[in-house]
Amino acid sequence: MTKDSDLKQQFYDVVIVGGGMVGAAQAVALVKQQKRVLVIEKTIPDASVLQQTPLRVSAINLASEKYLSALGIWPHINQSSKCMFNQLATWEQRHKPLVFSAEDIGTEHLGHLVKNEALQLAAFDEINALGQNNLEIMTGCKINKIEQTNEQATLFVSDMRNDKTNTNSNTNSNTINCSLLIGADGAFSQVRSLSDIGTTGWDYQQHCLSLTIKTEFPTQHITWQEFQPSGPKAFLPLEDGYSVLIWYDQASQVKELSELSNEQLKAQVLKRFPALVGEFDVVAKAAFPLTRRQANQYVKGRVVLVGDSAHTINPLAGQGVNIGYKDVEELSKLLAEVDMSERAALFQALSKYEKTRKRESLIMSAAMDSFYSLFSNNKTAMKLVRTGLLNLANKFEWAKKQVLKKAVGY
Ligand SMILES: Cc1cc2nc3c(=O)[nH]c(=O)nc-3n(C[C@H](O)[C@H](O)[C@H](O)COP(=O)(O)OP(=O)(O)OC[C@H]3O[C@@H](n4cnc5c(N)ncnc54)[C@H](O)[C@@H]3O)c2cc1C
Repeated sequence: MTKDSDLKQQFYDVVIVGGGMVGAAQAVALVKQQKRVLVIEKTIPDASVLQQTPLRVSAINLASEKYLSALGIWPHINQSSKCMFNQLATWEQRHKPLVFSAEDIGTEHLGHLVKNEALQLAAFDEINALGQNNLEIMTGCKINKIEQTNEQATLFVSDMRNDKTNTNSNTNSNTINCSLLIGADGAFSQVRSLSDIGTTGWDYQQHCLSLTIKTEFPTQHITWQEFQPSGPKAFLPLEDGYSVLIWYDQASQVKELSELSNEQLKAQVLKRFPALVGEFDVVAKAAFPLTRRQANQYVKGRVVLVGDSAHTINPLAGQGVNIGYKDVEELSKLLAEVDMSERAALFQALSKYEKTRKRESLIMSAAMDSFYSLFSNNKTAMKLVRTGLLNLANKFEWAKKQVLKKAVGY
């Protein structure tokens, strides 16, 4: 952490709150534009986390992979933290699968499943490799207030460790000024709430349970999802004999399941999942509520939101962080030529960002909702529609290709 005394009255081109997968990638992009950047992150995981049992993984599509490669982040992800998939299958329980292959669109693969921490750490590795002195990282601090004037945004922060023993936080308070404040601090964004930006959204009735399994079968390069009346069941392959199963169900059911032992969960998986190709053991679990949330504004004066702080969508089609990387790409492209002290140019770039990204993420959210209602619905009419759609896609190569291109971000 940068020393408190160093930060008093500092001025940065950009302050990014949140150095998760999206915020850390945003930092790389802006540091490469020679902007003076400060990242404020609660804690940056130690690299040893990558040796532990994987729990949170994301399907990274081809478009994100391309962008992360261009930023120099992708090469830092080691082989055992990512697993390539070249097939993607989906089907309605007891119906014929619709299988998408990389060859359908002339690519070598369709994407990778990557450990979340590996994506985050790869961005910090690239920052270290750059060895530039225009980036600072601050951890373990609390943001108390955000203010804006025509000239700057100001954060009032205090050291959390001192806060525990000292109730008078003003004595430890630092003021950080910047031309642009980026909120990349996730679904419960403090930047968003301290900037008085409201949200619109709801909680889905379904929650999901993520189960890490240790397998005895070789690495699979296919990811699949079976639609069942109670909610989808999905398989995500990983390396080193691990895979992740995702179990969508009613909130109460997910709660009950998450209280079971690993052995009991294995028995449930054998009962409720399609047959896996070999022996396995459940080794870790985590339950997540599913929420749809959109920030009412992506930009407010000198504050801009990226990633989950701007939007969270149903993870059904694994698009959340991919949309976040699109935010980073668009914002970075628009800021590339901007002199951060030029208010008019900066505000013009921010307004373009909001227009483009809000539209795209609303379209994606709506698509996920239609998908969710179509596939999480047990009404006969809906069942007929979805079986018909899957059959149609199976018959018409052109339609199948279009769906696949959308999924990989092309
Ligand atoms: C079950 C599940 C499965 C998913 N699967 C996929 C998938 O397959 N593919 C996909 O694309 N997406 C998937 N997603 C969505 C994806 O996880 C999110 O979109 C992604 O985590 C968003 O990244 P982010 O960096 O914006 O936010 P986060 O990952 O939430 O990171 C926010 C960062 O900000 C930091 N922070 C927060 N508050 C503060 C503060 N006050 N001060 C300093 N730092 C702060 C946090 O420590 C964290 O590092 C899934 C989501 C769920 C729930």
